[in-house]
Amino acid sequence: MRGTKIVCTMGPATNDSNIIESLIRVGMDVARLNLSHGTHDYHREMYLKIRSIAKDLCKNIAVLFDLQGPKIRTGLLENHKPIELIRGKHIKITSEQITGNSKIISTDYSHLPDEVKPGNRILLADGTLELKVIKSHPPEIECEVVRGGMLGERKGMNLPEIPIKLPSMTEKDWDDLDFGISLGADYFALSFVRSPEDVVQVKKRLQDKNSPAKVIAKIERPEALRCLDEIIDVSDALLIARGDLAVETTLEEVPLVQKRIIRKCNIAGIPVITATQMLESMTEHPIPTRAEMSDVANAVLDGTDAVMLSAETATGKNPVSAVEVMDKIIRCVENDQRYFECPFDEMCKTPSLKSDNNVFHSKIEDTAIASGKAVKQLVMALNTKAIACFTYSGYSAMAISNSRPKVPIYALTPNDNVAQQCSLFWGVQAIKLPEVNSIENMLLAVEKTLIARKLVKRGDMVIIAAGYPLSVACPTNLIKVHVI
Ligand code: PEP
Repeated sequence: MRGTKIVCTMGPATNDSNIIESLIRVGMDVARLNLSHGTHDYHREMYLKIRSIAKDLCKNIAVLFDLQGPKIRTGLLENHKPIELIRGKHIKITSEQITGNSKIISTDYSHLPDEVKPGNRILLADGTLELKVIKSHPPEIECEVVRGGMLGERKGMNLPEIPIKLPSMTEKDWDDLDFGISLGADYFALSFVRSPEDVVQVKKRLQDKNSPAKVIAKIERPEALRCLDEIIDVSDALLIARGDLAVETTLEEVPLVQKRIIRKCNIAGIPVITATQMLESMTEHPIPTRAEMSDVANAVLDGTDAVMLSAETATGKNPVSAVEVMDKIIRCVENDQRYFECPFDEMCKTPSLKSDNNVFHSKIEDTAIASGKAVKQLVMALNTKAIACFTYSGYSAMAISNSRPKVPIYALTPNDNVAQQCSLFWGVQAIKLPEVNSIENMLLAVEKTLIARKLVKRGDMVIIAAGYPLSVACPTNLIKVHVI
């Protein structure tokens, strides 16, 4: 059993049925479609492949549509070849859509030449490259290379000193949202969230369109860090987007910010994904660096629900090995007794986080939180093999997951989307089964389903948790200690 989930970004390196099948077999739980790249046709094809392969393998894989948000990017390059930026040399940026070369590159932020001032910093490719503005003569900006290196096409452009006048959801994002809704997305991730309203407006659109999809707020802007509690309050999950976060704040702050976000999400009871450059060197090499392995292990120890692969699976040379490596690191950490001792038990006991300057704050209703903890207490006190959780909305499974019990959590649900969404929840494996209408039938269904899948055997003790009445979405209010 592996508790922490793996999110894989799909891309050219994984746009192949055999590779998708391998990714699922070795441990992908959530497939991320990055709407910053590719056309709707491309993503539709990828989406359909994932759904069809997951169905053949009888696996619940969540599909996450990551909306670009007001991300500013560089343009295409001649022959799609990276160019070299040499320190001290000059390069121009134009807001006209040209194919770039080592003398001039384009940006998709049309206001940029009017908004920059001499001396402003322009960071490229997750801040690995830095330019200084010398002068602007619209539509072109003349820059000096401060930190050089290779620049690929369509790379991120961050402007920490320039207030960006772009809405949090661009026209493209609304269009991509509707596209994802029409396909049946399980999650939407919103980039560059600045306030809770950014999340609320999307949730409203999902509700208006009767979409069951959930919303993940990507934390990558300083404004979001200033209203983190309020964003957590309205979001279904958070994603720590360390790439842009490091550039928009400072590199050295990221490890502590990561710990703070994970802790707040754990306490609020919502899943959190730690993302970006986790096994970056595996884009080229077959094994990761020691530091990368420690990074994954530390995110797991911090209490993240999921870890994410970006370029490693989207464009890297070793997408399947990257998932295998991640799976091994997670299992190794979770097999250590200390993993379950810290910080979750402490968290269960702690009513307030004074050191974090925070009052106790919970996203999940009291009943669900208390039931999740009660289930964990029963698991610890009795020799329990598993938890079977009947869930209509996924809410009970999320609450039990949040208490980090040591045994597998099987979420039994009649809903496809819920089964898929559960793939993001720590420790939860969803199983689809028809609705049951009585407690007796629920017990029979648990026994039949878990025995048929060889997940338990006769005489095993399991904890059964459900919201009663069974066929409506309500928090866990029924717990049974059951011997198969
Ligand atoms: C990030 O910035 O870390 C991130 C995950 O976002 P994106 O890949 O969309 O730039």
